[in-house]
Amino acid sequence: GEALAVSARVAPLGSRLVLLLVEDLTEARRIEAVRRDFVANVSHELKTPVGALSLLSEAVMGASEDPEAVERFAGRMQIEATRLTNLVQELIDLSRVQNDDPLEDAEPVRVDELVAEAIDRCRHQAGTKQITMAAGGTADLRLWGNRGQLAAALGNLVENAVNYSPARTRVGIAARRVTAPGGDLIEIAVTDQGIGISEKDKERVFERFYRVDPARSRATGGTGLGLAIVKHVAASHSGEVTVWSSEGQGSTFTLRLPEAVAARDRASGDRTPG
Ligand code: ADP
Repeated sequence: GEALAVSARVAPLGSRLVLLLVEDLTEARRIEAVRRDFVANVSHELKTPVGALSLLSEAVMGASEDPEAVERFAGRMQIEATRLTNLVQELIDLSRVQNDDPLEDAEPVRVDELVAEAIDRCRHQAGTKQITMAAGGTADLRLWGNRGQLAAALGNLVENAVNYSPARTRVGIAARRVTAPGGDLIEIAVTDQGIGISEKDKERVFERFYRVDPARSRATGGTGLGLAIVKHVAASHSGEVTVWSSEGQGSTFTLRLPEAVAARDRASGDRTPG
């Protein structure tokens, strides 16, 4: 009787263990597949501009008698070179946000400064499209995190808002403090009046290299990595990024991140120096 009772108690435990191992294996396989896809994507993305550069340089050599053609080809070479530089830079950024613990050198980061930087980064592009940029609610708000990573995240959202909007529209950045059970959060919402994102694409735009319209993304120098970077930065700061969108009307990307003071209180003891 006793032995039976014991084995009855052990058996479910054993099958749970087997189940866990199987789940582990499946997860390991999934990670491996994702890694393989990523390498394949990177290779493809690198090959495209390199191939174009190679063809264009041949074209330049063949057109030495025609200065106008040379100039045209050289211009396109410059575009491809810029594309390559952007891609390499975003790959470096992505690997940084994936590998570095952002909270190792966390500090209070002023939201108004982050917003001003993000707007500055897009000023030229917005200017040529006559897009108005407006920010509000940022005064006195501070985030707790890695300055460079937070700047990259917000910069990407504002850049996208400008890139995926028609001329003479408006991009708004609104910040506010929201009370949450685990401590106050700062919400930063970037709203555009652009092309919007369909329900089906909404879930996928945060994936690495996923673009709704690859040609359009490339035309604006997009790499398909921006939102993957944003998502990583949000997650590693114990925050999140969400999207609301209405096709043809516009989109709002919202970052929710820990506030400086609250984060420090929560972490008192382990993250406070000294
Ligand atoms: P990309 O470098 O292509 O902009 P992202 O990762 O930043 O890459 O975005 C992925 C895709 O999500 C974009 O190619 C675009 O199709 C879509 N997207 C991102 N932001 C917006 C936006 N504000 N409005 C409409 N579509 C967007």
